[in-house]
Amino acid sequence: MNNDIEKVLFTEDQINQRLDELAATLTEKYQDKCPVLVTVMTGAMVFSSDLMRRLNFKLNVDYVDVSSYGTEAASGGEVRLIQDLSAGIKGRDVLIVEDIIDSGHTLKYLNKLFAQRGANSIKICAFLDKPDRREVDVKADYVGYEVPNEFIVGYGLDYNNLYRNLPYLGILKRSVYAN
Ligand code: 5GP
Ligand code: MG
Repeated sequence: MNNDIEKVLFTEDQINQRLDELAATLTEKYQDKCPVLVTVMTGAMVFSSDLMRRLNFKLNVDYVDVSSYGTEAASGGEVRLIQDLSAGIKGRDVLIVEDIIDSGHTLKYLNKLFAQRGANSIKICAFLDKPDRREVDVKADYVGYEVPNEFIVGYGLDYNNLYRNLPYLGILKRSVYAN
């Protein structure tokens, strides 16, 4: 598995340090708000579970699963909800936890959906951000790292549902997906 990685972008130690920083910021912002942490499955599950254990305030946990039509590498912009939230969010402060923002279509869709349901506030916490790839206007409120336009795997991010269990973030060798 490790042989398929071209380059390590962030090691486990670096990730842990960044998680501490993000969690400290969020703990300050969300004290006494009891937000709903909405994890976007499946990619964000590793990030979300590491992050939430560092958050020192009351929160509810929920999740959604979405998919973009077309391939992952070039999402067509149409987003489909595969698994909805288990509870209503009217009047709630929602914190969406996502692995990576690429075109921005996924988060634009979720933002609109949760706004329609009457959330009090909607913020986005994305571990990775590829700003060069943005097709729609979406900004994350909290970002772990800005990353270059490369295909990244590990720490929850997959290629063909593989590599999610890598404890670090890396660039996948082109030879892995070019054949
Ligand atoms: P967006 O709607 O912003 O284009 O799509 C975001 C989703 O595309 C992410 O949640 C992730 O599933 C996928 N994605 C975008 N870039 C990458 C990448 O570099 N590596 C992996 N594994 N998935 C990516
Ligand atoms: Mg995703």
